[in-house]
Amino acid sequence: MSAPANTTVDVVAIDGPAGTGKSTVAGQLARRVGAQYLDTGAMYRAATLAVLRAAVDPDDEAGVAEVVAPLDIRLVQGGDGTVVYLNGDDVSQEIRTDAVTAAVSAVSANAAVREKLVASQRSHADGAFLVVEGRDIGTVVFPNAELEVFLTATPEARAQRRHRQNLTDGRPSDLAEVLESVNRRDQLDSTRTVSPLRAADDAVQVDTSEMTLNEVLDRLSELVGERIGVRDV
Ligand code: C5P
Repeated sequence: MSAPANTTVDVVAIDGPAGTGKSTVAGQLARRVGAQYLDTGAMYRAATLAVLRAAVDPDDEAGVAEVVAPLDIRLVQGGDGTVVYLNGDDVSQEIRTDAVTAAVSAVSANAAVREKLVASQRSHADGAFLVVEGRDIGTVVFPNAELEVFLTATPEARAQRRHRQNLTDGRPSDLAEVLESVNRRDQLDSTRTVSPLRAADDAVQVDTSEMTLNEVLDRLSELVGERIGVRDV
């Protein structure tokens, strides 16, 4: 039943709004099924960090395009998760700050930014078995992915998760503010003109509000088994 490794491109696309548990689910699913993991949100965050460092307004379309065009953004899988490099510097922590989170939707609505990062994301699929996480993976980046999943959860459940994650990571956090930020980001991500957040027509929708992480992983592993089978890794 297993196919030789690296002879075909198999992609599992996982999209959905902030706080559905996407990152944790995608990272752990990749480990379970022996795939590589690509966190595309980290790329938009790294681009946003560069824009903030350059003191360019995230809504300044031409200014943002100019800052982002020459950037070298690389993701490397380490034992503890993805390490994000911006022009050779490890920015894995800095891309998670509130300042970056507040500006990332504006930067990622920029068509030139999307064009550059989507090309980079597609280049990762060169013969690899990939679990790719983002907002437009099933609709734009890999519309022919073998499996497309759209994770959802109520805004309250999503805010709770973000809030707990912040506290676990030692970041100050206020639940009401987190809820507002989650709602604001969803609104911006879903209504932008370029590649808005939406479920692909053929995506399997999974509501994680009442599910544990293991239940979600079991469900997705089952879907991977059905659509892709077991690959040699
Ligand atoms: O997944 P994460 O919350 O880190 O993503 C940060 C932001 O990056 C999202 O709110 C969205 O604006 C943008 N994004 C995107 N397209 C993707 C992944 C992320 O526009 N494929």
